[in-house]
Amino acid sequence: MAHRPPSEHAPGSECPREGTEPSDRFASPARPEAHEADIQFVKGVGPKRAVLFDKLGIRTIEDALWYLPWRYEDRSRIISIARLVPGEKATIAGTVRRCRLRRTRRRGMTLLTVEVRDDTASAEAVFFNQPYLESVLTPGARVVLNGPVVARAHGAGQMRNPHYEVVDDDDDPPLHVGRLVPIYHETRGLSSRRLRSIMRGLLDEYSGRLQDPLPPSVLQRQAWPSLADSLATTHFPGSDQDVQALNQWQTPAHRRLAFEECFLLQLALAVRRRMNRGAAAGTAFRCADTFTAPFRSSLPFQLTAAQRRVIAEIEDDMRAPHPMNRLLQGDVGSGKTLVALHTMLAACGDGYQSVLMVPTEILAEQHLLTIRPFLDPLKIPAALLTGGMTPKARRGVLDDLARGAVRVVVGTHALLEPDVRFARLGVVVVDEQHKFGVLQRGKLRDKGLHPDVLVMTATPIPRTLAMTAYGDLDVSVIDELPAGRRPVQTRVLRHDARHRAYDVVRKEVRAGRQAYIVYPLVEESDTLDLDAVLQAAERLRAREFPGMTLAHLHGRMKSAEKTGLMNAFRAGGIQILVATQVIEVGLDAPNATVMVIEHADWFGLAQLHQLRGRVGRGAHRSFCLLIRSPETMPKRTMSRDEPASGRPPSAPVTGEQRRLEWPFPDPAAAPIVAPTNTPAADTAAAPVGVTRAAEQRLKAMRQCADGFAIAEQDLAIRGPGDVLGTRQWGLPEWRVANLIRDAALLEQARRDAHELVARDPQLSHPDYRALKDAMVRRWQSKLDLGSIG
Ligand code: ADP
Ligand code: MG
Repeated sequence: MAHRPPSEHAPGSECPREGTEPSDRFASPARPEAHEADIQFVKGVGPKRAVLFDKLGIRTIEDALWYLPWRYEDRSRIISIARLVPGEKATIAGTVRRCRLRRTRRRGMTLLTVEVRDDTASAEAVFFNQPYLESVLTPGARVVLNGPVVARAHGAGQMRNPHYEVVDDDDDPPLHVGRLVPIYHETRGLSSRRLRSIMRGLLDEYSGRLQDPLPPSVLQRQAWPSLADSLATTHFPGSDQDVQALNQWQTPAHRRLAFEECFLLQLALAVRRRMNRGAAAGTAFRCADTFTAPFRSSLPFQLTAAQRRVIAEIEDDMRAPHPMNRLLQGDVGSGKTLVALHTMLAACGDGYQSVLMVPTEILAEQHLLTIRPFLDPLKIPAALLTGGMTPKARRGVLDDLARGAVRVVVGTHALLEPDVRFARLGVVVVDEQHKFGVLQRGKLRDKGLHPDVLVMTATPIPRTLAMTAYGDLDVSVIDELPAGRRPVQTRVLRHDARHRAYDVVRKEVRAGRQAYIVYPLVEESDTLDLDAVLQAAERLRAREFPGMTLAHLHGRMKSAEKTGLMNAFRAGGIQILVATQVIEVGLDAPNATVMVIEHADWFGLAQLHQLRGRVGRGAHRSFCLLIRSPETMPKRTMSRDEPASGRPPSAPVTGEQRRLEWPFPDPAAAPIVAPTNTPAADTAAAPVGVTRAAEQRLKAMRQCADGFAIAEQDLAIRGPGDVLGTRQWGLPEWRVANLIRDAALLEQARRDAHELVARDPQLSHPDYRALKDAMVRRWQSKLDLGSIG
C-alpha cells in the first residue's frame, strides 16, 4: 500500500500509515491484544496525545476502535471544476498548478493560494494560517478538495479552507475527501482529521486479529457482519452505503456492535441470576399463614387481584431454596406497602426477622406507623433504625436485632452499616430505593447475608432500564389500582395565577379534605432557602388561609417533630401541610386531595409523579397544580436531576438571589436571565426561565397519569444515563447502544443470553470462548461473576 500520509502538518509529523512497511512487524507473540494495548504506544499518539485520548474516554486500542464517528459527511461525489456553482458545497479532484504563500497585512496571518486544475477548468483554494501546507500541496500533487464554493471574478470559483487530501496513483481510497467521510467528536488538540488517520492505522493493524465474541449461530441468524467488518465499515463506510442509515447508526454494522454491547451485559446478568439460583445459602421458607391469614382478614378492604398475584409469586420464591431476588413494580398508590407487609409477616411466621428499607427517615417512621397497628395485635415486636437516632437508642435497637428480640425493623440506609447484625434475618424489602441496583445488593451479600430480597419501586422503570440495572432480578408487576381510584386532575399554572391553586385548596379544605403545598429546596441543608420556605408558610397562613390549620414540615426538623406533624396530618388535625420535597415519596394520607407544587419546572419527571402520587389515594377526586417559576428567575434543576448532558446544574446562585425567589418575587429586583434559545414550536408559551426539557416535563405531567408512560417520557427527555442515576450505579456508559433507539436489540440480547446460559451455564463450548472472555473482561469486577471467570 502506498497511501500518502495525511499531510496537514510539516513533513515528519506522525502518521500511523506511512510507507510500505509491512504492517505485521509487531506480530510477535508478546504483542498485546487490543483491549490491553495502551493507546499511547500507537504510532501517531504518544504520551501527549494519550492525554487527549483519555479525555475522549479512550485508553486502549479497543476503546479507540469502539469510538465510532458520530456522523458521516458525503464528500464522495466528485464534480468537474467547470461545473462548480458558487454557494454550493462540492468536491473536486485535480492537480496543483501553482502554490503561493503570502503574509497578510495583519500581523502573523498567512494566506496560501493554490491553483488546482482538472480537464475542464481551474479553481482556486485559499487556506488561512496553514503555512505548512505549502510543502504539502506542491505543484504536481494530485488533490481532492471539498468545501463551499464562492464566486471569483474570473475562473471557476474559489474554495476557502476546504477539506483536502493528497492522493496517489493507487487503489487506496482517500480518507478525508472524495468518500463518505467519518466525523468524530473532537477534543481540543485532537481533530477529526487526526482521528481518521489514527483509526485507519489501527484498523489496518488490528482488525484482522480481533476475536469476535458473538457466537457464529447469532451472527448467522441475523446475517450480521463480523466484528472486524463492522468496525471497518462503521469507521470507513464504502461509497455504496446509505448515508442516512449511517447517520442514524442503523446500518447492520452499527446494530451488530450495539447488540454485542447489550449481549455482553445481558449474559453477565444471566450468569449472575443463575449463580443466585444455584446458591445453597438461601432459606426455603414454609410461608405458614400464622400471621398472614389474620392480617388479611383484618384489612378493611379486599386485596386487588394484582396484589394477590404478586404475593403468590413472592411466596413461590420464598419457598424455593435459593435467595429471592425480585423487583416489584407498581405505580404510586397501587398498594405495595401491603405486599411488603405480607411478605415480612410470612417470614415472621417461620420465625425469621425482616427488614423494610426506605430512602428517608420520615418515610421510615410513616411506614412503621402504618404497619404497627397490624403487628401489635399479632405481638410482633418492631423497631425503627435511622441515621438520626441517638447513639444510645441506636445501640438498644442493634442489641435487640442481634438478640432476635425485634422481628421487624424499618429504617434507612443506616441498616447497611457494618455493625448492624441480625439473629435470623430472612427477608429484606427495599422500598422506593431506585439506586439500590445490582451493585448495592452485593453489599448485603458482603455482610454475609443471603436473605430473600424484594425491591419495590413506584418510579416505574422503563423496561429497557429494568433489563439493565435490574437485569438479574425476577419482576412482578402490580398493574391495577384499588377500585374506585380516579386520575388526579393536573393543571400547569403561571406563577401569577397561583391564586387559582389557592382557590382549589380552600374549596377542598372546606369540603373536609386536606392539601399539600410543596416548596422545593435545592439543598435540604440550605438555611437561606429554608428561611424562605418558613416565611412563605407564614404568609400563606396569614394572608391566604386564615382560619385554617396550616403547618410546615421540612427535612431538618427533629424526627419526633416530623412524626408528630405527619401523624397530625394523617389524623386530619392539620388541613394544609406546607412542605419541602421531604414528602416526595411513599407518604400515605388518603384524605389529602390537593397537591400544589411551586417551581414545578425544577423537578424531574419521576419526582413530580411521586409528589402527585401523594394525592388520589382515596375515593375522592384529587388535584395536582403545578406552578411554574416566574420568568425572571434563573433556570434551576433539582440536584438529583441534572440535565442529560451531564453538565453540572446551573451556576451557583448567590444567597442574595435566592432570597428573591420565594413566592412573590419582586420582578424589578430579581436577576434577569437571558432568554433561552428554546425552539419556538411547542414552547411558545413557556416563560423564558423555563427550559425546554422542563416544559416537556410539565406537558407530560398534564397529559399522562400512568406512571409507566411517564417513565418512557422521562427516558426520552433525559436520556438513559440520567434516569435513576445509572451513573451512580457504576454501570459504564454505552459505547454504541442507545437504550431508546435499541430497545428491541436489548430485548433480543436478553432472550439470547438467557437461552444460552440455560443451555451452557459455564459457557464451556469452544464457540463461546471469545464471548466468555469478553464478558468476564467487561463485567467480572462490576458484577462479581464468581467462578465462571
Ligand atoms: P404504594 O404502592 O404507592 O406504596 P400504598 O401501599 O401506600 O401504595 O397504598 C396506597 C393506599 O391504598 C393506602 O392508603 C392503602 O391503604 C390503600 N390500599 C392498598 N391496597 C388496597 C386495596 N386492595 N383496596 C383499597 N385500598 C388499598
Ligand atoms: Mg409506597
